[in-house]
Amino acid sequence: MNSFFKKKVSGIEKKTGKGRIFKGAAVLLGAVCFFGLLQEVTCQPVKVSRTDTAMGTVVTESLYVTEKESTAPEEVLERIRALEEDTLSYRLETSEVYRINQAAEHSEALVQVSEKLKGWLEAALAVSEKSSGALDITLGSLTKLWGIDKAASGMEEAVIPSEAQILEALSLCGYEKLSLSEDRLLVPAGLQLDLGAVGKGAALSEIAGLLKEKEEVSGAVISVGGSVLTYGSKPDGESFRVAVANPEDAGGRIGYLELTGQWCISTSGDYERFAEAGGKRYHHILDPDTGRPADSGVRSVTILTKDGLLSDALSTACFVLGTKQGLALAEEFDAEALVVDNAGKLHMTEGMEAFWHGEE
Ligand code: AMP
Ligand code: MG
Repeated sequence: MNSFFKKKVSGIEKKTGKGRIFKGAAVLLGAVCFFGLLQEVTCQPVKVSRTDTAMGTVVTESLYVTEKESTAPEEVLERIRALEEDTLSYRLETSEVYRINQAAEHSEALVQVSEKLKGWLEAALAVSEKSSGALDITLGSLTKLWGIDKAASGMEEAVIPSEAQILEALSLCGYEKLSLSEDRLLVPAGLQLDLGAVGKGAALSEIAGLLKEKEEVSGAVISVGGSVLTYGSKPDGESFRVAVANPEDAGGRIGYLELTGQWCISTSGDYERFAEAGGKRYHHILDPDTGRPADSGVRSVTILTKDGLLSDALSTACFVLGTKQGLALAEEFDAEALVVDNAGKLHMTEGMEAFWHGEE
């Protein structure tokens, strides 16, 4: 009998050469399936989260990664810190903005600006122009006078500057006094830049660029203070939910935006940084017309758009402008806006309604 056939002799299975081949193939197939499955399991993205501080605020990251050992979360944080240290900070001597402010402290200065800062300045100035100066990145003297960087928790007693001090600081401000041409910025004597209203949003677009280079990152939600980036998708295919804080109780929320893919969401609110005096709240968003905390009848403005700097710039500008003009400004930039007014009433652009889920 051909020994390559499996034979049953007296009920006992006897293996022939071919039987061995079958068994070998089955084992091999099993192994392939097992390792294939393993591969499948390890390729399924896992969620990694971290919370830290950068740009004087809290940074929270939730990343969906296919490699558990991915360095992406650290790299995101490092990128934000580098932006602050190299470009944005008006406090750190290493930054471009600090050096510009130093150069212009006592006399007019013509300074060279990096490609990155130039792009941000241009984008911010475009919003300044369309908002009649409601957003003004030259308010450095005024924000310093109000001690805005110190007012963080609302625990401090506000020190109210005199009208004379406010007018003096205001005389040094004004975005229209800046002149940007090629890679040179002309800054009048005494003018001080403060990019606090756009920096966190600008960081979001940088982070999105970084994540795109990371093949192992399939999705992410990253918040830098009041600005949030959604990126990619969640492994379960569910949409991202970005909460909008309740201005009455910032720990709570009034609802959320339901989003898929890449978006930037920025909120400016009077509950974020403030100090009180005589029962009155002095918050960190200043009206460049009065030199005082904006009193436009709103508690918070949330902007939804694709570009980070724009979302941040518009949230501040719309807060200063108030409900009607704010919503109109957002629409001019094809952005969606949600406004909470002083009475707690919500107002939103038509397009925002598709994303918004209010709390019952
Ligand atoms: P945001 O929280 O994005 O609205 O930005 C507020 C920060 O921007 C403040 O902490 C100030 O440093 C600065 N700022 C305040 N008011 C204005 C304004 N009207 N235009 C530009 N920057 C401002
Ligand atoms: Mg802003």
